[in-house]
Amino acid sequence: MNEDKAIFAPVDPAKAGLRGRCPRCGEGKLFSGYLTTAPRCSHCGLDYTFIDSGDGPAVFVILIIGFVVCALALWMEVSLNPPLWVHFLLWIPLIFILSLPLLRMLKGLMIGLQYKNRAAEGRLERND
Ligand SMILES: [Zn+2]
Repeated sequence: MNEDKAIFAPVDPAKAGLRGRCPRCGEGKLFSGYLTTAPRCSHCGLDYTFIDSGDGPAVFVILIIGFVVCALALWMEVSLNPPLWVHFLLWIPLIFILSLPLLRMLKGLMIGLQYKNRAAEGRLERND
């Protein structure tokens, strides 16, 4: 990540990230598509090429939504014992309904935390 020399008031990475806002100014849009990040902030001009959230948001979504949906499905199976088609009819749409917004929010959060903590790929530096 390039050294950030611009001076802005500190932005809470959780607030900005969950709202899909720029991690530096908290105003510009972070995403140009649903999950596609914009090339730069429209408000402060921060270059977003440092962004590398990788598979992190998807892993958290799988773990969180998987726990919630499995717990609900198990509870329903044990207490109501519905036919199998009821499970498919309920849980598959619920997975999509819960996962898609959470994926965007967690991607924004991870980008905000990456910016705040200056997280980047490891490099070996030489002191010559
Ligand atoms: Zn910005």
